[in-house]
Amino acid sequence: MTTTTTAENPLRDWIPATRDLTIGGELVEPQGEQWDVLNPATEEVLATVRGASPAQVDAAVAAARKAFPAWAALPGEERSRHIHRLADVLEKAADRLLPSIVNEVGTPVSLASYLQVRMAVEQHLRWAAEAAKVDRTQHLGPWHEPAPTLSDVVYEPVGVVAAITGYNYPLNLAIFKFGAALAAGCTAVLLPSPRTPLTTLFLGELIREAELPPGVLNVVIGNADVGQQLSSHPGVDRVSFTGSDVVGAKIMAQASAGLKGVTLELGGKSPNIVLPGVDVQKIAVEVHLRWSRNGGQGCAALARLLVHERRYDEFLEAGAAAFDQMVVGDPWDPATNIGPMIRPEHKARVQSFIDGSLAAGGRKLLEVTKPLPEKGWYVNPVLLGDLPHDARAVQEEIFGPVAVILPFKDTDEAVRLANDTPYGLAANVWCGDDLAEGRRVAEQIRAGTVWINGGGSMRPDAPFGGYGRSGVGRELGEWGMREYLEPKHIQWRV
Ligand code: NAD
Repeated sequence: MTTTTTAENPLRDWIPATRDLTIGGELVEPQGEQWDVLNPATEEVLATVRGASPAQVDAAVAAARKAFPAWAALPGEERSRHIHRLADVLEKAADRLLPSIVNEVGTPVSLASYLQVRMAVEQHLRWAAEAAKVDRTQHLGPWHEPAPTLSDVVYEPVGVVAAITGYNYPLNLAIFKFGAALAAGCTAVLLPSPRTPLTTLFLGELIREAELPPGVLNVVIGNADVGQQLSSHPGVDRVSFTGSDVVGAKIMAQASAGLKGVTLELGGKSPNIVLPGVDVQKIAVEVHLRWSRNGGQGCAALARLLVHERRYDEFLEAGAAAFDQMVVGDPWDPATNIGPMIRPEHKARVQSFIDGSLAAGGRKLLEVTKPLPEKGWYVNPVLLGDLPHDARAVQEEIFGPVAVILPFKDTDEAVRLANDTPYGLAANVWCGDDLAEGRRVAEQIRAGTVWINGGGSMRPDAPFGGYGRSGVGRELGEWGMREYLEPKHIQWRV
């Protein structure tokens, strides 16, 4: 799979032409409300789209319901072949998926090629295709009361899934959901963020090209009302959502009347702990370039830095080089590593965290000061310090290129601070060569993923999700598969 990443990419202005929904394998002209999709780097209108009407949402759910029995009954090997075929089509479309995502999300092309396209398809969708083949039946062995019996536990698909995603990784977030759902034997209706719907509309075209059985995977777009209808729809059996904790709570409430199960992948305020034995010269640049990736618009951004007081000053000095390497601007410039905020109101929210922190006595300890491009909703990255741990910027998810730093006295305090927010999505512990200490600290942190010394990339076979306000349930790996499976106990007398 190749994606052209340079500014010379002949497809750099390309955006999908599809404006139609995909319902039951057919292109359907949307009848709902209309809005503009904007390019956050240029402020230009990329496209004007229409959402699904209430009747079209019903039709999408009905199409998924109709397709469910046959899809669920297919042998896993067959479902696997279908999913691999879809992955083949997506791989061939990589050079168009890339500009679609760069232009509507604003992710710098230097990051997007792997993180937004290749990782999603080559790693995650392929893994899901293989997971479709697994026979998960468990043989529990004999039980003697009140009569001798044997038991099996078999896993059956839950049914129709509503998959609702946030704006920052449109292809990844969709694949994390429909990959596992389809592998499990469920059918699905996808609803992307109204701010970045173009890539998912294009996905509808690719679903048809891959000849997935009609109705197995449907695409609708729309605003909160469409999400509300889907997550409370009597024809939907499970809701899988990625987005903010505020909307996650609404979705849980909306799904509750129908007693639908939910998987919620929400925000975070992930701590990044630097223990005293660490050579901070070696890690400071990596630390800052990581939390600021995608302009800080990453759910697991490690943007709450907890640094041992003995290393604090040295860490700050070493970090200045990272801010020199931050290039804010045109996502199509291969040198750029910080793109724009998705919308002006989001930029204003990010700015309000900076202004509010300064007004409350906080200070900018490191920052990029180069002039910002005239167009585009950019924010210069900044590291804020001298804030108490209960400050808004320390406790709340900013989702922009703003990190906070706090010193700690000993490891117990680091652990206490790390766990002292309502979230628990991810964390990192820098421990140098003392892996045993890193592991001891990792085990005390209440988060769904804890990396040690920077960890690695997101693995398709490892669970991802959060404690507390970071979510409910897990995505990816066997844990993600189980979200879409009902365990059934079959017991017989012997
Ligand atoms: P958001 O919560 O604003 O919106 C997400 C989706 O919810 C959109 O598609 C929107 O149309 C829909 N929606 C809004 N109101 C609804 C309602 N009442 N009922 C049903 N659907 C409704 O999120 P966002 O700003 O697009 O994304 C950013 C957030 O997502 C951040 O908090 C980020 O941390 C989180 N996120 C989490 C993960 C993860 O895996 N944990 C990954 C990426 C992003």
